[in-house]
Amino acid sequence: MEENVNEPIPIDRALELIAAHVRPLEEETIPLDEADGRFLASRVDAPIDLPRFDNSAMDGYAVRAGDTPGRLSIIGESAAGAPFTGAVGPGEAVAISTGAVLPDGADAIAPIEDVRANGAQLEIPAAVAQGASVRYAAGDVRHGEELLAPGMRIGVAQIGALAAVGLSTVTCRRRPRVAVMATGSELRAAGADLGPGEIFNSNAPMLRAALRSAGALIEQIAAPADTTDAHLAALGRALEHDVVISTGGVSVGTHDLVRGAARRLGVEEVFWRVKVRPGRPLSFGVRGDTLVFGLPGNPVSTLVCFELFVRPALRALQGARDAAPEFSRGTLATAVRRNPQRDDFIRVRTRMTDGSAVLEPLRDQQSHQIAITAQADALARIPTGDGELPAGAAVSFLPLRRD
Ligand code: AMP
Ligand code: MG
Repeated sequence: MEENVNEPIPIDRALELIAAHVRPLEEETIPLDEADGRFLASRVDAPIDLPRFDNSAMDGYAVRAGDTPGRLSIIGESAAGAPFTGAVGPGEAVAISTGAVLPDGADAIAPIEDVRANGAQLEIPAAVAQGASVRYAAGDVRHGEELLAPGMRIGVAQIGALAAVGLSTVTCRRRPRVAVMATGSELRAAGADLGPGEIFNSNAPMLRAALRSAGALIEQIAAPADTTDAHLAALGRALEHDVVISTGGVSVGTHDLVRGAARRLGVEEVFWRVKVRPGRPLSFGVRGDTLVFGLPGNPVSTLVCFELFVRPALRALQGARDAAPEFSRGTLATAVRRNPQRDDFIRVRTRMTDGSAVLEPLRDQQSHQIAITAQADALARIPTGDGELPAGAAVSFLPLRRD
């Protein structure tokens, strides 16, 4: 499975190689209240019918459809949680509220808006069809049928469905434990007085935010300086996790030490360099089940590599049914020059026009420009090629905002 390390590999090949090295994490059972954003470890079957019983979709009167139109006598009430105990006979009606049990004998609901009630007398001027405004038992899901599929991401509606069938826990894959390790002698944390040539470490906080949104448990490793010993010590600690994400130090400079340190610590490199811009120097390796991503240091390269390669891997570790990058489709607002060697992930702003996404490239597209990137809400994929893609061309994009 080793690639020729001298030749950058296509993006899809890199994604395949990463996917081939993912072993989904163990299962754990967690409270429903903590399940938002997690992935189901196995299929969930409905333990009851939903609805549990035939009931009314409207406030009104439970009747026999064959008695309508007509004058009926109101013989009682079925309220939510307080069913009517008798049966509706010919010429009879029972007042009913939304969600209340449909009484025996009744087969339709006449909505309150469509009738006239006067004491115990009910006048129904128009015919009510059989089954009108009745919600039948198991019409939503039947006991024993699949409620949710394995690998499905649990969101708001899924929690609603699980709660509706009375479940208070759910079995998911555990969250990946991820070590974040920025590298570079120039890096300082916020609050420091910057000396000559020093910069603030922006990749680590950015990755932590990305990781939180991807469901990871984060361990921050102090950024090693550009010495082999510092790299070995930091990476040694990082490798105790399910995933290591380093930034910087994966290019060909004399101070780029990450790959060498990883090799010395037993990491088997699966590939180095991908036909993507920015992000070409990306390295990926494994040690046992630990996935080791060496992201390039330029902040926009870090961001692109995270969204394109790391986020899908984190989804796969958590057992996602479909872990591939979640591309949407849109059209370019302006022409964009293509790159003859690599797929370009340009920073764009999306706006909806007539229901479709129009992508406006930002004014500058260099890989150190995190401030300009902060104005973007998506990464548009400009496929490798010559010349330019014209305005209006359809392209794929990865959304950056996840709210
Ligand atoms: P490198 O790949 O280590 O040569 O880094 C490439 C560029 O990214 C250099 O300009 C670094 O200063 C910058 N860089 C590396 N790591 C970080 C970081 N954690 N935060 C911000 N910039 C970084
Ligand atoms: Mg560096």
